[in-house]
Amino acid sequence: MSTHLTVGQRALLEAELQQRQRALAGRLAAQSGGESRAEQAHEVLAQDAREAAQREGEREVGVALTELEERELSEVRQALARLREGRYGRCSACGCDIPFERLKAEPQALRCIGCEAEAEATRRRAG
Ligand SMILES: [Zn+2]
Repeated sequence: MSTHLTVGQRALLEAELQQRQRALAGRLAAQSGGESRAEQAHEVLAQDAREAAQREGEREVGVALTELEERELSEVRQALARLREGRYGRCSACGCDIPFERLKAEPQALRCIGCEAEAEATRRRAG
């Protein structure tokens, strides 16, 4: 069990994670409800090709956002699971304690700053 966080810090981070989980789940539910039927009908009938193209673009942005939010939501859920299991706040790469300041900024963080930077660099080299 990771003990570098005080009870108060853990409670604060847990509350933050639960808040994020609720916010993300709510946004995703609203999005998967999707456009109303009236909007879809309007789209089919849209005569102005430029308007249609613009709507298409907006939808693509919406999809990318949803994917991002889905990923964040799953990270938040995993962080909450780690909290329950007493593994929260430990770097998944090097096993060090992730400082509270970093967790406060990004409560679902899996890695310490050093390992995160390294993982980011690896991703960039790969991509
Ligand atoms: Zn690390």
